[in-house]
Amino acid sequence: MAYLADMHIHSIYSYDGQMRMESVIKRGLELGLKYLAFTEHIELDQITLKQVLNRFKCYCEEVEILQEKYPNIKLIKGMEVSNPERHIDELKFLNDLDLDYILGSNHMLPREYSEKEVLLYYKRILQMVKNGGIDAVAHLDYIRRRIDEGKIHSEIIEEIFAAIIEKDMALEINSSAARRIGKISFPNSEKLELYQRMGGSKVTIGSDSHRLNEVYDNIQIIDKSYDFNKGIYLKRKFVPYK
Ligand SMILES: [Zn+2]
Ligand SMILES: [Zn+2]
Repeated sequence: MAYLADMHIHSIYSYDGQMRMESVIKRGLELGLKYLAFTEHIELDQITLKQVLNRFKCYCEEVEILQEKYPNIKLIKGMEVSNPERHIDELKFLNDLDLDYILGSNHMLPREYSEKEVLLYYKRILQMVKNGGIDAVAHLDYIRRRIDEGKIHSEIIEEIFAAIIEKDMALEINSSAARRIGKISFPNSEKLELYQRMGGSKVTIGSDSHRLNEVYDNIQIIDKSYDFNKGIYLKRKFVPYK
């Protein structure tokens, strides 16, 4: 069955979002989608918890009004938390909110792309996974916007996958790789094969869309290309897509 979900969308509740939620929903309905996850950026390095809460309150109100207006598409309440490994207490607080889905991201791209810096980039992701409190790891290969594969050590990737499996999290397959670097996905297919060989199965798929024409972008291709236990999150629980 086709995966009719987009698990990574930014509306105007994200600092860089440009889409009103209702336009996304209309686009989703046009595309025949069943689930849309609004995973708004939470940049804990830049905003206070009070600001997060104020914004979250408005966000929830809007989701609830729109959910009532559009009962044929399920709206998933999400957050994309940047570098939660740096904000343990704040992450605990976010875990008490009424959310369906928390994505963890490392957005701290190195200033220079030495092997050491690249390794540090992935070590942050490993720490984020080990700390828990997130449901899925977003765009694992985000750093590949800037560097080629040669500088990435496979051992650290294996450690990250082992931790994801151990923590029973999902790995996000992010389709923005197609528009950003002309590749099928973040992570790339070699890493996804490794995840599978290591026993990883749970994945979510998201477009990381900030504009209407990016909603569900390339997700169909990813869905057809990879055989995983693809799912969505509701009330912080993985639900296999059926
Ligand atoms: Zn991100
Ligand atoms: Zn994002």
